[in-house]
Amino acid sequence: MDFNLSEEQRLIQETTYRFALQEIEPVAKQYDREEKYPREIVKKARETGLVGAFIPDQYGGPGYGFLEVALISEQLARVDLGINVCIMTATFGSENILFNGTEEQKRTYLPPLVNEDVIAAGAYTEPNAGTDVAGTRTRAVRQGNEYVINGNKMFITNGTVCDWMVVLCVTGDDEAKKHGRHSLILVESDRKGITANKIRGKLGIRASDTAEIAFEDVRVPCENLIGKEGQGFYHVMHFFDATRTMVAGQGVGIAQGALDKTVRYVKERTVFGRPLAVNQGVQFQLAEMATRIELARTLTYRAAWKVDQGEIDPALNAMAKYFSGEMAVWVCDKALQLHGGYGYIDEYDVQRFYRDAKILEIYEGAKEAEKLTISRRLL
Ligand SMILES: Cc1cc2nc3c(=O)[nH]c(=O)nc-3n(C[C@H](O)[C@H](O)[C@H](O)COP(=O)(O)OP(=O)(O)OC[C@H]3O[C@@H](n4cnc5c(N)ncnc54)[C@H](O)[C@@H]3O)c2cc1C
Repeated sequence: MDFNLSEEQRLIQETTYRFALQEIEPVAKQYDREEKYPREIVKKARETGLVGAFIPDQYGGPGYGFLEVALISEQLARVDLGINVCIMTATFGSENILFNGTEEQKRTYLPPLVNEDVIAAGAYTEPNAGTDVAGTRTRAVRQGNEYVINGNKMFITNGTVCDWMVVLCVTGDDEAKKHGRHSLILVESDRKGITANKIRGKLGIRASDTAEIAFEDVRVPCENLIGKEGQGFYHVMHFFDATRTMVAGQGVGIAQGALDKTVRYVKERTVFGRPLAVNQGVQFQLAEMATRIELARTLTYRAAWKVDQGEIDPALNAMAKYFSGEMAVWVCDKALQLHGGYGYIDEYDVQRFYRDAKILEIYEGAKEAEKLTISRRLL
Protein backbone atom coordinates (compact mmCIF):
# COMPACT_ATOMS: atom_id res chain seq x y z
CA MET A 1 0.00 0.00 0.00
CA ASP A 2 1.45 3.34 -1.07
CA PHE A 3 -0.21 6.50 0.20
CA ASN A 4 2.23 8.84 -1.56
CA LEU A 5 1.21 10.94 -4.52
CA SER A 6 3.45 10.64 -7.56
CA GLU A 7 5.79 13.47 -8.52
CA GLU A 8 3.45 14.35 -11.39
CA GLN A 9 0.47 14.52 -9.03
CA ARG A 10 2.39 16.78 -6.65
CA LEU A 11 3.28 18.99 -9.59
CA ILE A 12 -0.40 19.21 -10.50
CA GLN A 13 -1.16 20.30 -6.92
CA GLU A 14 1.57 22.95 -6.96
CA THR A 15 0.68 24.29 -10.40
CA THR A 16 -3.00 24.52 -9.48
CA TYR A 17 -2.41 26.23 -6.15
CA ARG A 18 -0.04 28.73 -7.77
CA PHE A 19 -2.66 29.43 -10.45
CA ALA A 20 -5.32 29.94 -7.75
CA LEU A 21 -3.14 32.37 -5.80
CA GLN A 22 -2.15 34.36 -8.87
CA GLU A 23 -5.34 34.40 -10.89
CA ILE A 24 -8.18 33.85 -8.42
CA GLU A 25 -7.26 35.18 -5.00
CA PRO A 26 -6.94 38.86 -6.05
CA VAL A 27 -10.40 38.90 -7.67
CA ALA A 28 -12.44 36.27 -5.80
CA LYS A 29 -14.16 38.77 -3.53
CA GLN A 30 -15.16 40.97 -6.47
CA TYR A 31 -16.70 38.11 -8.47
CA ASP A 32 -18.56 36.97 -5.36
CA ARG A 33 -19.95 40.46 -4.68
CA GLU A 34 -20.95 41.03 -8.30
CA GLU A 35 -22.23 37.45 -8.89
CA LYS A 36 -20.22 37.57 -12.10
CA TYR A 37 -19.16 34.53 -14.14
CA PRO A 38 -15.35 34.66 -14.60
CA ARG A 39 -15.07 33.58 -18.25
CA GLU A 40 -11.52 34.96 -18.63
CA ILE A 41 -10.29 33.01 -15.61
CA VAL A 42 -11.89 29.82 -16.94
CA LYS A 43 -10.04 30.43 -20.24
CA LYS A 44 -6.72 30.85 -18.41
CA ALA A 45 -7.42 27.71 -16.38
CA ARG A 46 -8.00 25.85 -19.63
CA GLU A 47 -4.69 27.11 -21.02
CA THR A 48 -3.00 25.93 -17.81
CA GLY A 49 -4.47 22.45 -18.29
CA LEU A 50 -6.90 22.58 -15.36
CA VAL A 51 -10.11 22.08 -17.37
CA GLY A 52 -11.17 18.56 -18.32
CA ALA A 53 -8.20 16.79 -16.74
CA PHE A 54 -10.09 13.49 -17.10
CA ILE A 55 -10.44 13.81 -20.89
CA PRO A 56 -8.20 11.22 -22.57
CA ASP A 57 -5.37 12.39 -24.83
CA GLN A 58 -6.96 10.99 -27.99
CA TYR A 59 -9.73 13.57 -27.44
CA GLY A 60 -7.34 16.44 -26.75
CA GLY A 61 -7.22 16.24 -22.95
CA PRO A 62 -4.31 15.53 -20.62
CA GLY A 63 -5.66 12.04 -19.95
CA TYR A 64 -5.45 12.14 -16.17
CA GLY A 65 -7.86 10.38 -13.88
CA PHE A 66 -10.44 11.45 -11.33
CA LEU A 67 -7.80 11.47 -8.58
CA GLU A 68 -6.04 14.27 -10.46
CA VAL A 69 -9.42 15.98 -10.91
CA ALA A 70 -9.93 15.80 -7.13
CA LEU A 71 -6.42 17.22 -6.56
CA ILE A 72 -7.11 20.17 -8.88
CA SER A 73 -10.50 20.70 -7.27
CA GLU A 74 -8.95 20.71 -3.80
CA GLN A 75 -6.25 23.25 -4.64
CA LEU A 76 -8.68 25.66 -6.34
CA ALA A 77 -11.14 25.40 -3.45
CA ARG A 78 -8.38 26.33 -0.97
CA VAL A 79 -8.61 29.79 -2.51
CA ASP A 80 -12.20 30.16 -3.74
CA LEU A 81 -15.02 27.68 -4.16
CA GLY A 82 -17.13 29.88 -6.45
CA ILE A 83 -14.48 30.12 -9.15
CA ASN A 84 -13.51 26.49 -8.50
CA VAL A 85 -17.06 25.54 -9.53
CA CYS A 86 -16.74 27.53 -12.76
CA ILE A 87 -13.50 25.78 -13.70
CA MET A 88 -14.39 22.27 -12.52
CA THR A 89 -17.82 22.31 -14.18
CA ALA A 90 -16.73 23.86 -17.48
CA THR A 91 -16.86 20.27 -18.75
CA PHE A 92 -19.87 19.25 -16.65
CA GLY A 93 -22.06 16.65 -18.33
CA SER A 94 -19.31 15.63 -20.76
CA GLU A 95 -18.43 12.72 -18.47
CA ASN A 96 -21.64 11.15 -19.82
CA ILE A 97 -20.19 11.34 -23.33
CA LEU A 98 -16.91 9.84 -22.20
CA PHE A 99 -18.65 6.98 -20.38
CA ASN A 100 -21.55 6.29 -22.73
CA GLY A 101 -21.19 8.32 -25.93
CA THR A 102 -20.37 7.00 -29.38
CA GLU A 103 -16.88 7.38 -30.79
CA GLU A 104 -18.17 10.12 -33.09
CA GLN A 105 -19.74 12.03 -30.16
CA LYS A 106 -16.46 11.82 -28.23
CA ARG A 107 -14.49 13.16 -31.21
CA THR A 108 -17.02 15.95 -31.80
CA TYR A 109 -17.73 17.20 -28.30
CA LEU A 110 -14.74 16.48 -26.06
CA PRO A 111 -11.78 18.24 -27.79
CA PRO A 112 -13.41 21.73 -27.94
CA LEU A 113 -13.92 21.61 -24.15
CA VAL A 114 -10.16 21.56 -23.61
CA ASN A 115 -8.96 23.46 -26.70
CA GLU A 116 -11.59 26.11 -27.29
CA ASP A 117 -13.72 28.48 -25.25
CA VAL A 118 -16.57 25.96 -25.00
CA ILE A 119 -18.60 25.35 -21.84
CA ALA A 120 -20.87 22.40 -21.06
CA ALA A 121 -23.62 21.75 -18.52
CA GLY A 122 -25.47 18.79 -17.03
CA ALA A 123 -29.21 19.44 -16.67
CA TYR A 124 -30.91 16.83 -14.50
CA THR A 125 -32.69 18.65 -11.65
CA GLU A 126 -36.22 19.99 -12.15
CA PRO A 127 -38.43 22.23 -10.02
CA ASN A 128 -40.10 19.07 -8.63
CA ALA A 129 -37.38 16.47 -9.10
CA GLY A 130 -34.07 16.98 -7.30
CA THR A 131 -33.18 14.17 -4.94
CA ASP A 132 -35.77 12.06 -6.74
CA VAL A 133 -33.90 12.04 -10.06
CA ALA A 134 -36.24 9.43 -11.52
CA GLY A 135 -39.15 11.82 -10.91
CA THR A 136 -37.97 13.82 -13.95
CA ARG A 137 -40.83 15.12 -16.11
CA THR A 138 -39.11 16.87 -19.01
CA ARG A 139 -40.27 14.84 -21.98
CA ALA A 140 -38.58 14.10 -25.29
CA VAL A 141 -40.88 12.69 -27.95
CA ARG A 142 -39.52 11.16 -31.15
CA GLN A 143 -40.85 12.73 -34.36
CA GLY A 144 -39.15 11.28 -37.43
CA ASN A 145 -35.45 11.51 -36.77
CA GLU A 146 -35.78 14.26 -34.17
CA TYR A 147 -36.64 14.51 -30.47
CA VAL A 148 -39.03 17.28 -29.45
CA ILE A 149 -38.30 18.36 -25.89
CA ASN A 150 -40.69 20.09 -23.47
CA GLY A 151 -40.13 20.75 -19.78
CA ASN A 152 -38.22 22.73 -17.16
CA LYS A 153 -34.86 22.32 -15.46
CA MET A 154 -33.80 24.03 -12.22
CA PHE A 155 -30.49 25.09 -10.62
CA ILE A 156 -28.42 24.28 -13.69
CA THR A 157 -24.78 25.25 -13.30
CA ASN A 158 -23.54 27.13 -16.41
CA GLY A 159 -27.16 27.34 -17.59
CA THR A 160 -26.79 30.79 -19.19
CA VAL A 161 -23.15 30.49 -20.28
CA CYS A 162 -22.94 26.98 -21.72
CA ASP A 163 -22.67 26.04 -25.39
CA TRP A 164 -24.45 22.73 -24.90
CA MET A 165 -25.99 20.71 -22.12
CA VAL A 166 -26.73 17.08 -21.49
CA VAL A 167 -30.40 16.95 -20.53
CA LEU A 168 -32.18 14.16 -18.67
CA CYS A 169 -35.55 13.53 -20.33
CA VAL A 170 -38.35 11.01 -20.11
CA THR A 171 -38.55 9.08 -23.39
CA GLY A 172 -40.58 6.04 -22.30
CA ASP A 173 -44.27 5.83 -21.49
CA ASP A 174 -44.22 2.86 -19.14
CA GLU A 175 -44.85 4.43 -15.69
CA ALA A 176 -44.07 1.12 -14.02
CA LYS A 177 -40.49 1.33 -15.27
CA LYS A 178 -39.68 4.24 -12.94
CA HIS A 179 -35.93 4.03 -13.52
CA GLY A 180 -35.96 2.67 -17.05
CA ARG A 181 -37.77 5.34 -19.03
CA HIS A 182 -35.22 8.17 -19.17
CA SER A 183 -32.65 9.16 -21.73
CA LEU A 184 -29.80 11.65 -21.90
CA ILE A 185 -29.94 14.04 -24.85
CA LEU A 186 -27.33 16.60 -25.83
CA VAL A 187 -28.97 19.96 -26.55
CA GLU A 188 -27.06 22.90 -28.03
CA SER A 189 -27.95 26.10 -26.14
CA ASP A 190 -28.74 28.10 -29.28
CA ARG A 191 -31.60 25.79 -30.33
CA LYS A 192 -34.97 27.47 -30.79
CA GLY A 193 -37.33 27.17 -27.82
CA ILE A 194 -34.78 27.37 -24.99
CA THR A 195 -35.07 30.08 -22.33
CA ALA A 196 -32.39 30.23 -19.63
CA ASN A 197 -32.69 32.66 -16.71
CA LYS A 198 -29.85 33.28 -14.29
CA ILE A 199 -30.75 32.77 -10.62
CA ARG A 200 -29.36 35.60 -8.50
CA GLY A 201 -29.04 35.96 -4.74
CA LYS A 202 -27.38 32.63 -3.93
CA LEU A 203 -25.93 32.24 -0.42
CA GLY A 204 -22.54 31.25 -1.81
CA ILE A 205 -20.55 30.21 -4.90
CA ARG A 206 -21.86 33.43 -6.38
CA ALA A 207 -19.32 33.58 -9.23
CA SER A 208 -20.83 30.37 -10.54
CA ASP A 209 -23.68 30.66 -13.03
CA THR A 210 -26.89 28.95 -11.91
CA ALA A 211 -30.03 29.01 -14.05
CA GLU A 212 -33.52 27.76 -14.59
CA ILE A 213 -34.13 26.56 -18.10
CA ALA A 214 -37.37 26.09 -20.03
CA PHE A 215 -37.64 23.88 -23.13
CA GLU A 216 -40.55 24.58 -25.41
CA ASP A 217 -40.80 22.34 -28.48
CA VAL A 218 -37.02 22.19 -28.74
CA ARG A 219 -36.01 19.97 -31.68
CA VAL A 220 -32.75 18.04 -31.70
CA PRO A 221 -31.61 15.23 -34.00
CA CYS A 222 -31.94 11.70 -32.60
CA GLU A 223 -28.19 11.27 -33.03
CA ASN A 224 -27.84 13.60 -29.99
CA LEU A 225 -28.95 10.73 -27.75
CA ILE A 226 -26.10 9.97 -25.31
CA GLY A 227 -25.91 6.31 -24.35
CA LYS A 228 -28.94 4.06 -24.57
CA GLU A 229 -32.55 5.12 -24.72
CA GLY A 230 -34.23 4.15 -21.44
CA GLN A 231 -30.90 4.02 -19.54
CA GLY A 232 -30.58 7.75 -18.78
CA PHE A 233 -31.19 7.37 -15.04
CA TYR A 234 -28.42 4.80 -14.72
CA HIS A 235 -26.07 6.89 -16.88
CA VAL A 236 -26.61 9.84 -14.51
CA MET A 237 -25.87 7.65 -11.48
CA HIS A 238 -22.63 6.55 -13.16
CA PHE A 239 -21.82 10.21 -13.87
CA PHE A 240 -22.33 11.09 -10.16
CA ASP A 241 -20.08 8.23 -9.13
CA ALA A 242 -17.19 9.98 -10.83
CA THR A 243 -18.03 13.62 -10.21
CA ARG A 244 -18.78 13.20 -6.49
CA THR A 245 -15.06 12.69 -5.87
CA MET A 246 -14.47 16.12 -7.46
CA VAL A 247 -17.02 17.61 -5.05
CA ALA A 248 -15.39 15.77 -2.14
CA GLY A 249 -12.13 17.46 -3.23
CA GLN A 250 -13.91 20.81 -3.04
CA GLY A 251 -14.78 20.09 0.61
CA VAL A 252 -11.22 19.16 1.51
CA GLY A 253 -9.87 22.27 -0.23
CA ILE A 254 -12.23 24.86 1.22
CA ALA A 255 -11.71 23.44 4.70
CA GLN A 256 -7.92 23.50 4.28
CA GLY A 257 -8.09 27.09 3.05
CA ALA A 258 -10.22 28.09 6.06
CA LEU A 259 -7.82 26.34 8.45
CA ASP A 260 -4.75 28.00 6.86
CA LYS A 261 -6.33 31.42 7.29
CA THR A 262 -7.34 30.65 10.87
CA VAL A 263 -3.89 29.45 11.89
CA ARG A 264 -2.43 32.73 10.59
CA TYR A 265 -5.13 34.76 12.31
CA VAL A 266 -4.88 33.21 15.79
CA LYS A 267 -1.12 33.75 15.79
CA GLU A 268 -1.55 37.45 14.93
CA ARG A 269 -4.64 38.33 16.95
CA THR A 270 -3.98 39.47 20.51
CA VAL A 271 -6.64 38.82 23.16
CA PHE A 272 -6.11 39.44 26.91
CA GLY A 273 -2.63 40.71 26.04
CA ARG A 274 -1.40 37.55 24.31
CA PRO A 275 -1.90 35.78 20.99
CA LEU A 276 -5.17 33.91 20.66
CA ALA A 277 -3.15 30.84 19.67
CA VAL A 278 -1.66 30.32 23.14
CA ASN A 279 -5.04 29.22 24.53
CA GLN A 280 -5.34 25.46 24.66
CA GLY A 281 -9.04 25.76 23.87
CA VAL A 282 -8.05 27.35 20.54
CA GLN A 283 -5.29 24.82 19.90
CA PHE A 284 -7.70 21.92 20.45
CA GLN A 285 -10.07 23.39 17.88
CA LEU A 286 -7.27 23.71 15.32
CA ALA A 287 -6.25 20.10 16.00
CA GLU A 288 -9.80 18.85 15.48
CA MET A 289 -10.16 20.85 12.27
CA ALA A 290 -6.88 19.45 10.89
CA THR A 291 -7.79 15.88 11.84
CA ARG A 292 -11.18 15.99 10.13
CA ILE A 293 -9.65 17.52 7.01
CA GLU A 294 -7.06 14.75 6.87
CA LEU A 295 -9.76 12.09 7.27
CA ALA A 296 -11.81 13.57 4.43
CA ARG A 297 -8.71 13.89 2.26
CA THR A 298 -7.80 10.22 2.69
CA LEU A 299 -11.37 9.14 1.98
CA THR A 300 -11.58 11.38 -1.09
CA TYR A 301 -8.28 10.25 -2.61
CA ARG A 302 -9.17 6.60 -2.05
CA ALA A 303 -12.60 6.95 -3.63
CA ALA A 304 -11.16 8.80 -6.64
CA TRP A 305 -8.32 6.30 -6.97
CA LYS A 306 -10.84 3.47 -7.09
CA VAL A 307 -12.77 5.23 -9.87
CA ASP A 308 -9.53 5.39 -11.84
CA GLN A 309 -8.90 1.68 -11.23
CA GLY A 310 -12.28 0.94 -12.81
CA GLU A 311 -13.55 -0.26 -9.42
CA ILE A 312 -16.24 2.36 -8.86
CA ASP A 313 -17.67 1.96 -5.38
CA PRO A 314 -20.84 4.11 -5.13
CA ALA A 315 -21.03 3.80 -1.32
CA LEU A 316 -17.41 4.88 -0.89
CA ASN A 317 -17.92 7.85 -3.23
CA ALA A 318 -21.07 8.78 -1.31
CA MET A 319 -19.13 8.59 1.97
CA ALA A 320 -16.38 10.82 0.58
CA LYS A 321 -18.80 13.42 -0.74
CA TYR A 322 -21.10 13.50 2.29
CA PHE A 323 -18.34 13.42 4.92
CA SER A 324 -16.22 15.96 3.12
CA GLY A 325 -19.14 18.38 2.65
CA GLU A 326 -20.29 18.12 6.24
CA MET A 327 -16.71 18.44 7.47
CA ALA A 328 -16.20 21.57 5.34
CA VAL A 329 -19.30 23.24 6.79
CA TRP A 330 -18.10 22.36 10.31
CA VAL A 331 -14.54 23.58 9.73
CA CYS A 332 -15.65 26.84 8.10
CA ASP A 333 -17.97 27.49 11.05
CA LYS A 334 -15.06 27.01 13.48
CA ALA A 335 -12.85 29.22 11.30
CA LEU A 336 -15.38 32.04 11.35
CA GLN A 337 -15.88 31.70 15.11
CA LEU A 338 -12.14 31.96 15.75
CA HIS A 339 -12.04 35.16 13.66
CA GLY A 340 -14.71 36.70 15.95
CA GLY A 341 -16.39 39.83 14.60
CA TYR A 342 -13.82 40.13 11.82
CA GLY A 343 -14.95 36.78 10.47
CA TYR A 344 -18.46 38.13 10.11
CA ILE A 345 -17.58 40.89 7.64
CA ASP A 346 -16.67 40.29 4.03
CA GLU A 347 -13.29 41.98 4.31
CA TYR A 348 -12.08 38.63 5.63
CA ASP A 349 -12.31 35.60 3.34
CA VAL A 350 -13.65 33.20 5.98
CA GLN A 351 -17.05 34.84 5.68
CA ARG A 352 -17.18 33.81 2.00
CA PHE A 353 -15.83 30.34 2.79
CA TYR A 354 -18.56 29.87 5.40
CA ARG A 355 -21.28 30.83 2.90
CA ASP A 356 -19.74 28.84 0.05
CA ALA A 357 -19.25 25.60 2.00
CA LYS A 358 -22.98 24.99 2.54
CA ILE A 359 -23.58 24.03 -1.10
CA LEU A 360 -21.40 20.95 -0.57
CA GLU A 361 -24.18 19.42 1.52
CA ILE A 362 -26.77 20.08 -1.18
CA TYR A 363 -25.63 19.79 -4.79
CA GLU A 364 -24.63 16.62 -6.63
CA GLY A 365 -27.12 14.96 -4.32
CA ALA A 366 -28.04 16.28 -0.88
CA LYS A 367 -26.06 14.55 1.85
CA GLU A 368 -29.18 12.57 2.78
CA ALA A 369 -29.17 11.06 -0.72
CA GLU A 370 -25.58 9.95 -0.15
CA LYS A 371 -26.53 8.41 3.19
CA LEU A 372 -29.23 6.45 1.37
CA THR A 373 -26.61 5.07 -1.02
CA ILE A 374 -24.40 4.07 1.91
CA SER A 375 -27.18 2.48 3.95
CA ARG A 376 -28.48 0.62 0.91
CA ARG A 377 -25.13 -1.15 0.81
CA LEU A 378 -25.35 -1.95 4.55
CA LEU A 379 -28.91 -3.24 4.47
C1 LIG B 1 -25.97 26.22 -6.69
C2 LIG B 1 -26.56 24.94 -7.21
C3 LIG B 1 -26.02 24.35 -8.33
C4 LIG B 1 -26.61 23.19 -8.85
N1 LIG B 1 -26.13 22.66 -10.02
C5 LIG B 1 -26.83 21.67 -10.63
C6 LIG B 1 -26.48 21.23 -11.94
O1 LIG B 1 -25.52 21.70 -12.56
N2 LIG B 1 -27.26 20.27 -12.53
C7 LIG B 1 -28.32 19.72 -11.89
O2 LIG B 1 -28.97 18.89 -12.49
N3 LIG B 1 -28.66 20.09 -10.64
C8 LIG B 1 -27.95 21.06 -10.00
N4 LIG B 1 -28.31 21.48 -8.74
C9 LIG B 1 -29.43 20.86 -8.08
C10 LIG B 1 -29.06 20.03 -6.87
O3 LIG B 1 -28.38 18.86 -7.27
C11 LIG B 1 -30.36 19.75 -6.09
O4 LIG B 1 -30.73 20.99 -5.49
C12 LIG B 1 -30.19 18.67 -5.06
O5 LIG B 1 -30.04 17.42 -5.68
C13 LIG B 1 -31.39 18.60 -4.10
O6 LIG B 1 -32.59 18.56 -4.83
P1 LIG B 1 -33.78 19.59 -4.40
O7 LIG B 1 -33.19 20.94 -4.31
O8 LIG B 1 -34.91 19.38 -5.33
O9 LIG B 1 -34.16 19.13 -2.94
P2 LIG B 1 -35.30 18.07 -2.54
O10 LIG B 1 -35.16 16.83 -3.32
O11 LIG B 1 -36.62 18.77 -2.55
O12 LIG B 1 -34.91 17.79 -1.04
C14 LIG B 1 -34.95 18.82 -0.04
C15 LIG B 1 -34.13 18.36 1.15
O13 LIG B 1 -34.82 17.24 1.73
C16 LIG B 1 -33.88 16.29 2.21
N5 LIG B 1 -34.21 14.98 1.62
C17 LIG B 1 -34.54 14.72 0.34
N6 LIG B 1 -34.83 13.43 0.17
C18 LIG B 1 -34.68 12.83 1.37
C19 LIG B 1 -34.85 11.48 1.85
N7 LIG B 1 -35.23 10.51 1.05
N8 LIG B 1 -34.59 11.24 3.14
C20 LIG B 1 -34.21 12.24 3.97
N9 LIG B 1 -34.05 13.53 3.59
C21 LIG B 1 -34.28 13.81 2.30
C22 LIG B 1 -32.49 16.82 1.85
O14 LIG B 1 -31.93 17.46 3.00
C23 LIG B 1 -32.74 17.85 0.78
O15 LIG B 1 -31.77 18.89 0.83
C24 LIG B 1 -27.70 22.60 -8.19
C25 LIG B 1 -28.21 23.19 -7.02
C26 LIG B 1 -27.67 24.35 -6.56
C27 LIG B 1 -28.28 25.00 -5.32
